[in-house]
Amino acid sequence: MFFDNVKNTINQPLGEINGYSIFIKREDLLHPVVSGNKFRKLKYIFKEIIINKIPVVITFGGAFSNHLAATAALGNELGVKTIGIVRGHEWRNKINESNTLSYCYSKKMDLICVSREAYKKKETSDEIQKYLKTISNYRLIPEGGTESISVKGCAEILRPIDSKFDVICSSLGTGGTLAGLITASYKKQFVLGFNSLNSSSALNLVNHFTKKKNWEIINDFTFGGYGKIKPELINFMNNFYKQYKIPLDPVYTGKMLFAIFELIKKNKWRWGKKILVIHTGGLQGISGMNNYLERKKLPILTY
Ligand SMILES: *Cc1c(COP(=O)(O)O)cnc(C)c1O
Repeated sequence: MFFDNVKNTINQPLGEINGYSIFIKREDLLHPVVSGNKFRKLKYIFKEIIINKIPVVITFGGAFSNHLAATAALGNELGVKTIGIVRGHEWRNKINESNTLSYCYSKKMDLICVSREAYKKKETSDEIQKYLKTISNYRLIPEGGTESISVKGCAEILRPIDSKFDVICSSLGTGGTLAGLITASYKKQFVLGFNSLNSSSALNLVNHFTKKKNWEIINDFTFGGYGKIKPELINFMNNFYKQYKIPLDPVYTGKMLFAIFELIKKNKWRWGKKILVIHTGGLQGISGMNNYLERKKLPILTY
């Protein structure tokens, strides 16, 4: 099956920076769209769906969501019908303005665009409940794909050879990936999550999934919030690509690497010398971000 054919991802060295050795685990190379942590998160969910012969999967996401794109690709690959509940009524008439939604549509995902109020309440809202009543046998996946079996999937990111690192770094949305990494972390390792949202909800979620205390969330590099960017960040990501030939995504991994480099440069790094950074993928979002940057007459990502 799809999930069992993948090889282990490599730890690519970035070299020494101010005496710190940094490696990056190229989970982005797992698959062009079902990449990084989305592959890990959806693995056991889809295995369960196939074993139980559930015909339809329904999930949630914004118009640039890596999770929606990954779910659409997987459903198409594995013969499971997918439905995406999209944040914002306005997308109803402009699917083609979002590369992510167009991609989902091309993978035969049904897109149901709902109001922001309904989206916030998810399946408890009247609007969404009314829709769900029209479908008989389905499996709901929460926003971002975070539930206990997806945390188990994310724990598989770390392998025995990774025990030599002092600190594991990951970007963070819901916190499901971080919870998996903490679960799998080795003795004496510390796990750092770099928040990409101006919300502290991940803290509770991580505490729900693990009792371990060897972790911390860094909230200082959100660049104004989820999906927000600044020219400074774009320049950093373009330079990073020039130097290492590794593409980063603007919502998650770009902010994390910016943060790591900044903290090291300013002598504020206090978590150990051997650093493993998880590249959680998400590269499908680059073209959508570039469209947005072009409209705003801002510098674009050049890779
Ligand atoms: C979804 C996503 C995240 C966030 O993962 P969580 O488990 O929700 O914290 C991080 N990085 C990338 C590239 C993602 O697509």
